[in-house]
Amino acid sequence: MLEHLLGEPWDPHNPVGLLAVLAADERAEPLAAGERILDEIGLRAHVVPATLGGRLTGLDHLFQLLRAVCRRDPALGFGYGLNSLMAGVNIWTSGSPGQQRALADLLLAGRQVACAYHELDHGNDLARMDLSATPGGGGWQLNGRKEMITNIARADAIVLYARTSTQPGSRSHSQFYLTRSELERHSYRMLPRYRTAGLRGVQLAGIEFFDSRVPADRVVGRAGLGLETAMRSFQITRVAVPAMAIGAADLALREGVRYARGRRLYGRAVADLPLVRSELATTFADLLVADCLTAVGTRMLHLRPHEGSTVAAACKYLAPHLLIAGVRRLSSVLGSQFYLRSGEHGVLQKLVRDLQPTAFVHASAATCQLTLLPQLPLLARRAWRPASEPDPGPFSNLFRIGAALPPVDFGALTVGSAGADSLVAALPWARDRYHERLARSRGGPNRPAELIGVLLAELAELTDDCAGLRPNQTGATAMPAAYRLAHRYAVLLAASACLHVWAEQLDDAAAFDRDERWLTAVLTRLTGAAGRTTGALPEDVAGYLFEELTRRYEEDRTLDLLGAPLRPRAVAPASCPAPTAAAGVRR
Ligand SMILES: Cc1cc2nc3c(=O)[nH]c(=O)nc-3n(C[C@H](O)[C@H](O)[C@H](O)COP(=O)(O)OP(=O)(O)OC[C@H]3O[C@@H](n4cnc5c(N)ncnc54)[C@H](O)[C@@H]3O)c2cc1C
Repeated sequence: MLEHLLGEPWDPHNPVGLLAVLAADERAEPLAAGERILDEIGLRAHVVPATLGGRLTGLDHLFQLLRAVCRRDPALGFGYGLNSLMAGVNIWTSGSPGQQRALADLLLAGRQVACAYHELDHGNDLARMDLSATPGGGGWQLNGRKEMITNIARADAIVLYARTSTQPGSRSHSQFYLTRSELERHSYRMLPRYRTAGLRGVQLAGIEFFDSRVPADRVVGRAGLGLETAMRSFQITRVAVPAMAIGAADLALREGVRYARGRRLYGRAVADLPLVRSELATTFADLLVADCLTAVGTRMLHLRPHEGSTVAAACKYLAPHLLIAGVRRLSSVLGSQFYLRSGEHGVLQKLVRDLQPTAFVHASAATCQLTLLPQLPLLARRAWRPASEPDPGPFSNLFRIGAALPPVDFGALTVGSAGADSLVAALPWARDRYHERLARSRGGPNRPAELIGVLLAELAELTDDCAGLRPNQTGATAMPAAYRLAHRYAVLLAASACLHVWAEQLDDAAAFDRDERWLTAVLTRLTGAAGRTTGALPEDVAGYLFEELTRRYEEDRTLDLLGAPLRPRAVAPASCPAPTAAAGVRR
């Protein structure tokens, strides 16, 4: 439905086509026609749990929808889709029934809510935010400002993070759910808009309060639990951001293929140059790694919410890292065309700018590493040296992408994972479990088994390194080597996700990702990210991925794990040579 309404991206007459997207970006305005479409499909209702009358049943479906928006315009996805979710998860996690009802009604009516956490003075340091809420007059009085808040100028309600105690520490802040209409007009003012280098259409502005009075029951949950609520509820949005960013990377990669097929040099298409094929295939492999990690992360939020803190931080840390590097790699494929801000390939420079913030907004890469770091010693001791093979029962549904999920239990999200880590613990188990099938999957050397061996050596070393981590090495002042442990851990989580997702497809004869070369590609990239190999794809593997990439481009299918059809083509893309080999067309 959404894809149909968004229409053909390269149609110059499409009001939500890429030329219109670029023009809106140049004006630093939201894509108005795109926003109308999102209103038409009732996007905000998808953020409201079904139990409150909304359409949120599975986070997987919601993230796919938001990804589809980003596949057209990341500014539309992050500027018009994400902020309702960011605000909503706090209320669904800790709000009173009355607050949940009020926000659900507001969103179901298609109105806007802003999520106001960060202050310019304090960045990611949520425990030091200054905007204060002090008890008084039977309620609370607000004083202070928030500067860079998406859509604050047009929001009807705000989830506001405020200091409720002058004491330092983690119990000094609370969230408030406010509607704009209940604030006394003279008690607040809007602050000017901020212009940004990327996501230019996002409406970032601020709000300042002066003794602004709000009723006592506007506090969300118990006063003092604001940081805890954020740490729990934002696990959902920490997975959502990279899951959405995959849509932007998909568009960029599609654009790279389009350019490489249309541009002729040395008497042939640029796409026929082995180096270019390899660059495109490598970016495709990185996109698939990011999708395996976020898809499994999404399913974990439903199935193993008590492990959400680690997997969500790993998703928010590693996936943007891979996607941003991948889209930068594409900029070298496009050469000077990448630098142009208009014309048929002008969208790539926008995507490079738009993807960059996914590494630092909401929670920076370093903040996510810092969520992981203090948990690593316990994980190493408790989870990474499993005494026995885990019961595979609860795991299978975790890796079966697209299978039905139970409703997400917001209340079951916990601040830490308490030493539970089924994903990394399942890595050694996977090698034994799939060894025979790995060996059988093709003749020749068993490359995946070799790569799994490399990853298991990495796990053994990481286990020793983390078990010996001193407490003074797990906080913000930790040395870079300690932060590197969090990176290595995220890589192993991704490897386990990839391996099990692959194994789930083995009985699907048509699946592209059941082939040994698929697994070799993603594990090669991950052993590279761990610093144990160069990460360079073997020639035949790059060829296999490139063929699939070409096929999906021609068939107009998404480049993520689902490979789902987009829309019937109205306008043919640049001339399309026939694919050179047949690989399975998936699902
Ligand atoms: C497009 C856009 C939309 C936004 N929308 C919203 C919104 O709707 N609501 C909202 O509340 N905010 C929003 N923000 C604000 C955003 O979330 C901030 O960027 C965020 O607070 C991070 O602050 P900072 O980037 O200034 O980083 P800082 O925290 O100031 O970081 C500065 C440097 O310190 C490093 N650093 C930070 N923490 C650590 C650590 N623990 N360990 C090691 N190094 C560290 C960082 O890596 C970085 O190099 C938005 C921002 C943008 C760009």
